[in-house]
Amino acid sequence: MRRSVMFLKTTREASADEVSKNAQLLGRAGFVNQLMAGVYSYLPLGLRVLNKIERVVREEMDAIGGQEILMPALHPKDIWETTGRWDKMEDVLFKFKGAGDRDLTLGPTHEEVVTPLGASVIASYRDLPKAVYQIQSKFRNEARAKSGLLRGREFRMKDMYSFHATQEDLDAFYDKTLDAYMRVYDRLGLGGGRTLVTYASGGAFTKYSHEFQTLTDSGEDRVYVLGDGRHGINEEILDDGGAMADIIGRHKGSYADGDEKKLEQVKAIEVGNIFKLGSRFSEAFGFKFLDKDGVAKYPVMGCYGIGPSRLMGTIAEVLSDENGLVWPEDVAPYKVNLMTLRADDAACVALGDKVYDALQAAGVEVLYDDRDARAGEKFAEADLIGCPWQAVVGPKGAAAGIVEWKNRATGEGCELPLGSWPW
Ligand code: ATP
Ligand code: MG
Repeated sequence: MRRSVMFLKTTREASADEVSKNAQLLGRAGFVNQLMAGVYSYLPLGLRVLNKIERVVREEMDAIGGQEILMPALHPKDIWETTGRWDKMEDVLFKFKGAGDRDLTLGPTHEEVVTPLGASVIASYRDLPKAVYQIQSKFRNEARAKSGLLRGREFRMKDMYSFHATQEDLDAFYDKTLDAYMRVYDRLGLGGGRTLVTYASGGAFTKYSHEFQTLTDSGEDRVYVLGDGRHGINEEILDDGGAMADIIGRHKGSYADGDEKKLEQVKAIEVGNIFKLGSRFSEAFGFKFLDKDGVAKYPVMGCYGIGPSRLMGTIAEVLSDENGLVWPEDVAPYKVNLMTLRADDAACVALGDKVYDALQAAGVEVLYDDRDARAGEKFAEADLIGCPWQAVVGPKGAAAGIVEWKNRATGEGCELPLGSWPW
């Protein structure tokens, strides 16, 4: 993509409306544009990143047998009354009237849609297990939405739901999903101890749910890190002596008696949450299947949420530096940000064009800053946008057919002739 034709404007200063680092950086770099608090447009660079994050999530869900569907965002009131959540989730539901004075809401989550949908397909134990997921915009009337992409009122979510004949089958699929989630965070540059698997409270049917918490001072959640540095405990569990003893027991070896009192407290962002629902929703909708023994039973369900837009904000918070964004390869808008330093130097432009063509021919995604602009401006913008590699063609190198390369994350550089790449 030639920078000169791109739908993009970067700015030196952040908008006065934005207080969070992710929104300031992503706004300045022209990835997103705020319509109102918690509601954003994704511009070409931002949409490329969002799509890549969603592609990673999709691949990992497909790999464990999830089947992609798309459910409506517009919901009638009655399904929410069936589960009692029309009132219980009062604080987050956007409620309004449709044609014929009908009460409607926008989906903040989709148990109320997926459960009757499951019932329309599943009748017998032979139809189980099943797992379906969607990637969609969700709507929640969040009280505070000052954290940019971390807390949207309209935001992206991948939500998967699974149906099982037995608790053991749900347990096995749940464990598989937990592993798949960790592969997602690894691929997004948030692995290697950056994201903890955290025990959180489980509700009526199960001891715990699991949250995935990425460590950063800008996080709103407080978690306690277990001795292995890979697991954590959510604040809400800390006062539950029985649960604490149980969790510590599961991580034996890391603790002496009483050690749990010294657990380190850290701030973190919840980037995912998986939950065993049991038969709460299948019972609410009277959804039964006929088991092997001929008895009608309620399937047990699991739900598995992950937030691609919150992940985009989290990567911006965690992996950026004082000069701007730093994208991991898998989600970078482009792999290479190529730039010519002199638009009035024919050799410079000729070599820049050749490098651009050669990279594209090699299947490399490249953003080519071909504008007639100052070198300093181009360097600063490339650092702000944060593509993994920068390729610079200056007048001196152009004469010798040499391109200067810089790795955005490490700052390391090298000089290579046209046709050679540093990776
Ligand atoms: P929080 O406690 O941060 O409000 P939640 O526990 O209500 O989140 P879930 O219902 O578990 O969120 O949603 C699943 C995932 O969707 C979360 O782990 C998060 O990644 C994402 N998510 C939830 N709410 C938002 C939001 N307002 N903006 C962006 N992403 C969100
Ligand atoms: Mg949650």
